[in-house]
Amino acid sequence: MILRVALDVPLPKLFDYRAEDATRADIGYRVLVPFGTKRLVGLVVELAAGSDIPAKRLRSAEKILREVPPLGRAWLDLVKFCSGYYQRPLGEVVGAALPPRLRSVRPFAEAPRDFALAPAGREVLATLPARQRRMRALLARLSQGPASESELAAQTRGARRLIKRCIEEGWIAPVVPECPVPGFVRAYDLTTEQEEALHKLRRGLERFGVSLLFGVTGSGKTEIYLQLIAEVLARGKQALILVPEIALTPTLEAAFRYRFPGAGIVTQTSASPELERAHGWVLAHRGRAHIVLGTRLAVFASLPDLGLIVVDEEQDISFKQREGVRYSARDLAIARAQIAGVPVVLCSATPSLESFHRASSGKYELISLTRRAIHEAVMPAIRLIDTRVHPVHEGLATPLREAIATRLARGEQSLVFLNRRGYAPTLACPACGWVKGCTRCSAHMVVHSADRSLRCHHCGLAERVPRVCPECGNPDLQAFGRGTQRVELSLRDLFPQAQVLRLDSDAVRARSRIDDLLERAAQADILVGTQILAKGHHFERLTLVGVLNADSGIFSSDYRASERSFAQLQQVAGRAGRASLPGEVLIQTRYPGHPLYQALVRHDYPGFANSVLAERREAGFPPFVFEAVLRAESSDAMRAMRFLREAIEAAPRQRSEISLFDPAPMSLARVAGVERAQTLLQSRSRPRLQAFLSEWSETLYRLPAQGVRWHLDVDPIEF
Ligand SMILES: [Zn+2]
Ligand SMILES: [Zn+2]
Repeated sequence: MILRVALDVPLPKLFDYRAEDATRADIGYRVLVPFGTKRLVGLVVELAAGSDIPAKRLRSAEKILREVPPLGRAWLDLVKFCSGYYQRPLGEVVGAALPPRLRSVRPFAEAPRDFALAPAGREVLATLPARQRRMRALLARLSQGPASESELAAQTRGARRLIKRCIEEGWIAPVVPECPVPGFVRAYDLTTEQEEALHKLRRGLERFGVSLLFGVTGSGKTEIYLQLIAEVLARGKQALILVPEIALTPTLEAAFRYRFPGAGIVTQTSASPELERAHGWVLAHRGRAHIVLGTRLAVFASLPDLGLIVVDEEQDISFKQREGVRYSARDLAIARAQIAGVPVVLCSATPSLESFHRASSGKYELISLTRRAIHEAVMPAIRLIDTRVHPVHEGLATPLREAIATRLARGEQSLVFLNRRGYAPTLACPACGWVKGCTRCSAHMVVHSADRSLRCHHCGLAERVPRVCPECGNPDLQAFGRGTQRVELSLRDLFPQAQVLRLDSDAVRARSRIDDLLERAAQADILVGTQILAKGHHFERLTLVGVLNADSGIFSSDYRASERSFAQLQQVAGRAGRASLPGEVLIQTRYPGHPLYQALVRHDYPGFANSVLAERREAGFPPFVFEAVLRAESSDAMRAMRFLREAIEAAPRQRSEISLFDPAPMSLARVAGVERAQTLLQSRSRPRLQAFLSEWSETLYRLPAQGVRWHLDVDPIEF
């Protein structure tokens, strides 16, 4: 027989290997094969009677890895869908989908198992000749109760070989651990509005359907999906919960463990230790974990009894993979739910415009929560500070300073939010106009105060701050603009008696554990931070949020910037006054009349979304068209552009309903010495775009691409 194997190599095909003993039952097993001079682990996808490869060149598979059960049909359908939709070879998708340890050639052993004597073993023990001393000892030990392999090995020489024989003979069997029925702790009573939402979701539990659970911060979306998960577990099914990268802290896992006592809960993130991730993955794959909780990569967890998928903060851009297989975990979750015939619930206070549009037009079920569930909490009052009227000093306008001072006097906490880490975004020479750029990227270097360094936030390059201007020798170089470090210093100067704590990815890296930092944050008087602070963390005494630099989000060339900006501002505003203390949000802006701010003040996401959707419809942007880009990367910008022009030249002639734009450099053209250019495709018809891409992709693989790396990005979010 011939195994057709998906291998993680950049070629859009399956690879044939000979395997004498293979049967159709081997589809879905991992397999160890020789590839060139290397050995690789791939996945058996098909079985064939013959191969196009001449018999003498056809190599044999080294070993079918049967210690982990084969991947099921639904899982294979998911990776095939992903490969087709995102235009990536199946082997690459499988490579991205399996945890690293399961695609490594190092043998994978599952967590140690216990063995127990089977009835046949008990009979054998009674009749076993005395000279089979070691076998007798082993069976005798097991006749007193289960034992682990290591325990048996300590007692009997050659135990491993004996165990293998006993299993083959059916004398002993691995103990299947008790899989307790998970409990559920009902921590809160639902409001009428929550009850109704849960009721609607429960009705859809046995079939495919997409629901958008849309509700303001604090409206209790989490509580609704926790109760829905409890229902799914009670029906003997598994649940998959996807959360954004930044939100997945041990706190969330702990909350799940507390609410679902006795449940098998597995977390899957890129930060999980390799072996732990593989063991968790296999546990879910064997149907022995009830809940899989993870970031975007968890969308590929194997769940044979899948009953529900939840995507929390569905608008979050971390669900989109930015390299390799560029999938959107949210969109794949929907495809997966359809394959499995189960519901998927998208949750958000500020849904992506794609999801909001589909829900408003009836493609998804829209479930809105309009009230906060914690009844003593009210929506924070959002006020705009016009910085033309109240000029800023050290980044802060007078009304914001006064508001912070009031909070200090009352023993309450303030949060100053700005989405820019470092000390200052640019270092420049006022005498000659020189600006410090990164030598490897088309970006400025950021001044960091702690070690007086300049750092590139795109490639990580670090340098010392120069003493004098390299162009004119002026010793008076200036840092322009403001990052979190600079604001932190200003606040310390302004409020010397206050405890000021900065929370951004630099601070998290320095302290390594976000938990410790959050614990300290709860004690601080003033917090300064980036979006790390915007999500999920609940500070009891926090009653004031001040937002600096918000305007940078509303005048961007990226048409998605305002959508993201609204989501982020609403999210950070939601940090204020979650408990019994009323919250206030002050946003510093030069454009208080801008519709985004006006909608924000009214807490009117639908109003904002509908106005932006109308603009997008007018301008022909998603979700009213579907997009893809062909991107080329090279050390030489001309080469990248030439490749794109040749690619367009070679594109299928049949282009009805497809717009293919001229190639152009990306908005950040150079990163780490790599020049990046792309050509955009748009179509009002997703199937037509898909058909065009499939045909084009075949041509692209045949195009000479010296010194150029290329890829297609379907539903791109970077331009
Ligand atoms: Zn100068
Ligand atoms: Zn750089």
